[in-house]
Amino acid sequence: MRHCKSCGHEQTINPDDYTDQAEHGISEKEQERRLKTCLSCSSLENYTCKHSGYIVSYIASRPDQHCSHPEGSKW
Ligand code: SF4
Repeated sequence: MRHCKSCGHEQTINPDDYTDQAEHGISEKEQERRLKTCLSCSSLENYTCKHSGYIVSYIASRPDQHCSHPEGSKW
């Protein structure tokens, strides 16, 4: 169990989820693009998306995740 240092949110972390980008199939450039979008989004609170409840650095690194903005995905 890990705790977000900003908001105290608890989440179980599987080390296998943090393997290298080749295994994830998502590039570093794409992760950066997603994070930049999140960091300028009004739905971001304490590094967490208020729609999905996920810490954005986690979902931005995952090819099986997407932006869950109610007006349409931003990435
Ligand atoms: S709504 Fe989308 S862009 Fe905004 S913080 Fe959530 S995941 Fe990021």
